[in-house]
This record gives sequence, C-alpha cells and structure tokens, in this order.
Amino acid sequence: MKGQNTLQIDVASLQKCYGALWSYGEICVYCDCCNKNTKIRRKARLKYWKWWLKQNLEFDLWAIESPTLLALQKKNVHRNIQEAQKKIRYYLDKKK
Ligand SMILES: [Zn+2]
Repeated sequence: MKGQNTLQIDVASLQKCYGALWSYGEICVYCDCCNKNTKIRRKARLKYWKWWLKQNLEFDLWAIESPTLLALQKKNVHRNIQEAQKKIRYYLDKKK
C-alpha cells in the first residue's frame, strides 16, 4: 500500500539505507550509507549525520503562532541535534 506519509522499504538490504530516508523514496539513491564496503559506508554515514545536524541547527520554520506546535518543534529539533551529535561522535571514533 502506498500513501503520502508512508515510508515503505521492502528489500532487506535497504534496511541500513539512509538514502531511502534522505530522499523520502523507497529505493536506495546510491547513498553509500548501505554500501558493503565498511570504509565507504562509514564515510557516507558521517556525511549524512553532519548534513542532518546542519539541517536542524539551521532550522527556522518555527511555528511561533502555536505554542503547542512550537514546543513540539523545539523538542524534536533538540532531540535531532543530540542524536546527530551522538552519531557523528560514533562514526568519528570508528575511524581510529
Ligand atoms: Zn542506500
């Protein structure tokens, strides 16, 4: 079933694919986050998390007219930033 708000990933090998999330699509867009080569995969994932961190740090579509939505946005962006920083540290450590 296809829906506007559904993210469907059928192929098992795509479970680790960030590209599908990145592009909101259903197929790997050669993201390399699911590459079988560990070195290439780590580098791609680090790039992805840096991009995600930047997206959240620069987020400025705040719903200032709605205190409820604004609070939710702040919570989500804060959580996204923390997760991205954690992942970046993880993938930087893996390079040692
Ligand atoms: Zn992929």
